[in-house]
Formats: sequence, C-alpha cells, structure tokens
Amino acid sequence: MEEKLNGIVVSATDYRENDKIINVFTPERGVISASLKGVKKAGAKLKFAAAPFCLAEFMFSVKGDKRTVIGASLTDSFYPLREDLKKFYCGATALEFVKKFVREEMSSPELFILVVNTLKDLAYGKEDCLSVTSEFLVSALKFSGYALNIGGCLSCGKTEFTRVFFDVATGGFYCEECFGKEMREINPETYTAIVKAERGETLSPRQSAFALRFLNYYVTAKTEETLNALKELGRLTENV
Ligand SMILES: [Zn+2]
Repeated sequence: MEEKLNGIVVSATDYRENDKIINVFTPERGVISASLKGVKKAGAKLKFAAAPFCLAEFMFSVKGDKRTVIGASLTDSFYPLREDLKKFYCGATALEFVKKFVREEMSSPELFILVVNTLKDLAYGKEDCLSVTSEFLVSALKFSGYALNIGGCLSCGKTEFTRVFFDVATGGFYCEECFGKEMREINPETYTAIVKAERGETLSPRQSAFALRFLNYYVTAKTEETLNALKELGRLTENV
C-alpha cells in the first residue's frame, strides 16, 4: 500500500550502513517512523528528507507496520534555523516537544499548524525568536492537555495582585490571599510574561528569558519529561 502525507521531520537516526530512520510529524497520524534507504550514499536524491525541520509531502510504501519513504517533495527546509544558534535551539524546542508529547496515531492538526507557523516565524519573521518560542510553548501545552490556567487568580478570579503563586497540579496562578502550602512563589514579572505570551503579544528579551525559565520548570514538574533544547536556550539567555 502507498500513503501520501504531509509532515515535518522531527529527528533522524542512522540505521545500517547507508540508511536512516526518520520520525515524521503528520497532522493525521501523529509522529510516525519510516526508513530512508541508501540516503547516506553520495548523491542520494532524498538526502534532504533526512534533515530535521524538513517540511515535505512524503510518499510512503507501507508493509504491515513498517513504512519506507519512496518519494518526497520539499515544501520548506527552514534553512535560516541552521545559521543562528539561538534560532536553532528555538526550532529544536518545538521539534522536541512534538517528539516527546505526540504519539503515533495521535491526530494533532492544531499542533501541526502551530509548529509549521512557529518554524516560519523563527526562520523568516522579524519577531524575537525567544518570544516566538514562549508563545509556542504556552499554546502547545494547551493542545497537549497540560494547559496553564492563565487569566487571574484561579481561586478568586482577581487579576491584579502583587505576589504570585503557582500550583503545578492545576497549572494555575494564585494571589497572596488564596495560595496553598505546596505552591511555589514566582516572580510577578514571570507571570506578566506568561500572560503576554498567551495573548500572542511580543515579549521583551528579559520577559522571554523569565517565561522560558518558568516553562522549562513547569514542563519538567508536570510531565517528568525534559526538553533538552529548552535547557540549552536557558543557558544561552542566562545573563539577560
Ligand atoms: Zn485569589
């Protein structure tokens, strides 16, 4: 059987002498794996399809539960992401999020569109890449069932408060009158940054650094998964 699907390569690993196995994020079937035969040989036609960030229309041959790429037509390689370390880790954060939170056969059309638009903004847009990545993570968490509860104190609804507390279990923020023992106090600037990211407003470099540090903490505490690319971004923005 043959199957035609649009998808983004999220990772590629060497397999046998000349082959690679790629993981491809598709809107209909989630993250699927497929082999790319002979792709390490010089002049291989489908070499571009073994590179992370490659957005293409793939043609697969399907036998049982195994897929082989038999054709691919490139839509975009998001090349500028390879020329700037910070942009690269921003894009890699999006791919790693997909790889860790989207399973095979998990239909994810909204997340797919979000990832494509995020890679476009990172590669070709004017907005600061760290701000784009903060916005991406807040939305991606929502589509993946780990939504943050943004919009005032989750208990009393108050939107103006001086001290802010965060609860991992509810993903909610609380005011100084409603906070519970097990909550962690966070910097009010972090809260402001997360609110802006959720609204799709551009964050200052300082706000992005605060937002990404918080999102890194939340993803790990909530899901026990670590986004290594996000940790690298944290290292690159430590002195902001
Ligand atoms: Zn409250």
